[in-house]
Amino acid sequence: MKWQQPLGHTAGDQFLKTLSKRISQVLHNEELLHTGGDEFVIIIPELSTNNHSCVLELTRKILTSLQQPVAVNGYEFIVTGSIGISIYPNDTADANDLVKFAESAMFQAKKNGRNNYQWHNKRFTLQNFKYIQYESALRKAIKQQHLSTYLQPQTDLKSGRIIGAETLLRIHQGTLADISPAEYIPVAEESGLVVDIGEWVFRAVCQQVSSWHQQHRIPDEFHAIAVNISPIEFNRPDFIEKISQTLLETGAPAQFIELELTESALQFPSDELYDKLTTLKELGLSVAIDDFGTGYSSLSRLKNLPIDVLKIDRSFIHDIHITGSNNQAIVEAVINMAKALNIKTLAEGIENEAQVKQLQLLNCQYGQGYWFGKPVPVEQFASSTLLETSLTAQFNS
Ligand code: C2E
Ligand code: MG
Ligand code: MG
Repeated sequence: MKWQQPLGHTAGDQFLKTLSKRISQVLHNEELLHTGGDEFVIIIPELSTNNHSCVLELTRKILTSLQQPVAVNGYEFIVTGSIGISIYPNDTADANDLVKFAESAMFQAKKNGRNNYQWHNKRFTLQNFKYIQYESALRKAIKQQHLSTYLQPQTDLKSGRIIGAETLLRIHQGTLADISPAEYIPVAEESGLVVDIGEWVFRAVCQQVSSWHQQHRIPDEFHAIAVNISPIEFNRPDFIEKISQTLLETGAPAQFIELELTESALQFPSDELYDKLTTLKELGLSVAIDDFGTGYSSLSRLKNLPIDVLKIDRSFIHDIHITGSNNQAIVEAVINMAKALNIKTLAEGIENEAQVKQLQLLNCQYGQGYWFGKPVPVEQFASSTLLETSLTAQFNS
């Protein structure tokens, strides 16, 4: 079950109470436990080892009991239930493992589209264990403030100057230390934790940019520090409010901050999406589309949206320097179309000089990749000659 509405904890409690009452009504001698968050455990005692039809019957009754919307504070919420089942002693004789197996099966049920159930199955246990392990490690990292941000330079391909940087999340202690966010951001998205993480990252960037601005270390021609925004955050009704509140609280100059959205967040152009992006622009922020080319959007579908930068995914860049590669033609077309739409282009994942040369020939404006610099801790980025010389030189000139 999911509780992601910004109505506060009391409303959340009321929501959970309604659900547990509904589940209790279909139980007889089974025990119902609330194990935290939106998860419940039901213990069915004295189950016959061979006949499990009563488990299925109960599962169906529970899912049916959740079908009616739940009313809280005048709002109606649609609930989806995902049930995982493990059997003692068939699956395991260990009580802890029994719960873990049921949890793992529950994750599988969620993945299969929710509103369904799944028996424990060894095949996906390992995979789901990783999910559960990541989720608890993420909670811990957030609680114990083990999050930090790295910056990777973005370079103007004509002048060779650094014009910006992308903020990349890092966890500096625990199970997820030194693991790429690409591994755990999907877990953060599925669990809703990405909202807390995103707020933390955005505030950290605002504070940093605000402090650099106060120290007059940002020249006008500097483009921006970019922040990755998950579609889960972007699609929340309070997204704009949270962003503008953080800008206000930190006094960060919005013109030096860019939001990187993925194609999936922009998949269905609508008036609402247009208004949302326009409001972000009115706040002074710029907007980039990340990993362009990996999703389903096309430039023609995006043409009416107020977008500043198109980040061409590195899968199109890796062989760009090889004459006759399909990607060369694709990237050239993307750059030309973006230019016609007044959108700047940035090539991701540049790893060698030949790629730089080819992208210069194709008139791509910006580049990012290991060739120019790997992501480094913010302090290192700020103090490295890289930024100091480039920024101060530009600022003093
Ligand atoms: P992304 O936004 O496309 O970020 C670029 C990724 O490519 C980074 O991986 C970066 O380290 C890597 N990269 C940069 N240059 C090169 C190169 O030349 N070669 C190769 N092979 N890789 C290069 P990282 O830091 O592991 O992040 C992975 C993904 O995790 C990001 O992809 C982004 O989607 C997500 N992510 C990172 N930080 C955040 C965050 O704060 N919030 C959200 N929602 N997602 C984040
Ligand atoms: Mg990005
Ligand atoms: Mg990217």
